Amino acid sequence: MSGTPGLSESPLARLSRVTSSPEAAHYEATLRARRLASTTIERYLQVSAHFAEWRTSTTTVAEAVATFLSTHLPACTCACRGRRTLFENRAALRLWLRATTGASASPPPSTPIDAEVETYDRYLRDVCGVAVQTRVRRRRHVRAFLTEVFGAQPIRYDVLRPSVLTSFVTRRAQHVRPVTAGAIASDLRSYLRYLALQGVAVAGLPEALPRVAQWRLASVPKHLTPTDLARFLAAFDRATPRSRRDYAMALCLVTWGLRACEVAGLRLTDIDWRSAAVTIRSSKVHRARVVPLTADLGDALAGYLRVRPPTDRDHVFVRIGVLEGEALTPSVVRSAMRLGYARAGLPASVTGTHRLRHTAATRESARVLRRVQSERGWTRCHAPASILQNSVTVPCGWSSTTRRNTRHSGRPCGRWPRSWAARSRRSGAGCARPSATAEPVPV
Ligand SMILES: [Zn+2]
Repeated sequence: MSGTPGLSESPLARLSRVTSSPEAAHYEATLRARRLASTTIERYLQVSAHFAEWRTSTTTVAEAVATFLSTHLPACTCACRGRRTLFENRAALRLWLRATTGASASPPPSTPIDAEVETYDRYLRDVCGVAVQTRVRRRRHVRAFLTEVFGAQPIRYDVLRPSVLTSFVTRRAQHVRPVTAGAIASDLRSYLRYLALQGVAVAGLPEALPRVAQWRLASVPKHLTPTDLARFLAAFDRATPRSRRDYAMALCLVTWGLRACEVAGLRLTDIDWRSAAVTIRSSKVHRARVVPLTADLGDALAGYLRVRPPTDRDHVFVRIGVLEGEALTPSVVRSAMRLGYARAGLPASVTGTHRLRHTAATRESARVLRRVQSERGWTRCHAPASILQNSVTVPCGWSSTTRRNTRHSGRPCGRWPRSWAARSRRSGAGCARPSATAEPVPV
């Protein structure tokens, strides 16, 4: 069923020829509405045309997409032009499904490993309440392990032996830093816990995973010097909405020492301008804390919010350009900071946002902010369930380890200040914020 279109035929014309003009035009309009790059749109049109040429009408579109991705694509010998990488085909056909059938769900898992990783991910999300970034990493490592052991074959748990696990980790450890090797072993240990909860016999397997030595305080956390920090902040010219947004995000990171996910998750309702206070709802540790709004950060946020794209999202920081108005992901925050490092001429070894988190801890302002937090009673506390987005449910009968892993389940605990808890109950609001007006903190 391979197509042999003429070389001069455009991807849209080719898709219109094998499907129908209105359907192809609607799909292209959907892609343009998402403000994808023109090269990406062209690739997606080619992928969809390839799929439409291959497809027979005996199955539903969703089933055909699954078969195409899992069976046809790896062995495709079609003469037509188009991309053959799985991730691009999957992304293009997911949008094709939505555009042509109105389906919002993603296509069904295409391989046994996809299905296994998806089920494991649901366990991490719904039972363990693991942060998004940690889930992404665990999915990647578990997928790499399963792919190496089983390839395209069905998964057989009886094949898992201590030697298989040990050799996988030791082989990977030769190419990565010790901390990453430790993460790989830890992620496989998590996967084995999941298998145990599924009733799979894994006795002796967790012990086979090597433990990587990571001496505490063996090295000083890396941070930016005051000179480098000044160059970094000066690299945002604040002449465009994007630059203003990135500057405000950079100040959030170096002032409060936030994680990238906390910056991306910041909501408009979290900022209390009158009290000069901002509630940080961490998705990683399932706790909230209140931090003072400094004068320079308040100016930066206000400067950005004046040019923020119109959107119905409550997120402070939204995308500009492609998918304009959509909420940011932590990877966009990291990418913006990486570009800032490059513009400031910092060494290539300076990456990630934790460098800025460490920098925040070394600044004089950190001491002042902590004092302000202490004076205003904004101690670190557990958040009430209503303000947490990721509610965690633990079925009866789960092990104590699982319960321990879900200890931040959103219930107020002893560390929650009594006055806040009482105010929260009276007002029915999620998070009681200090009511006393306060001036921005000069730092
Ligand atoms: Zn093909």
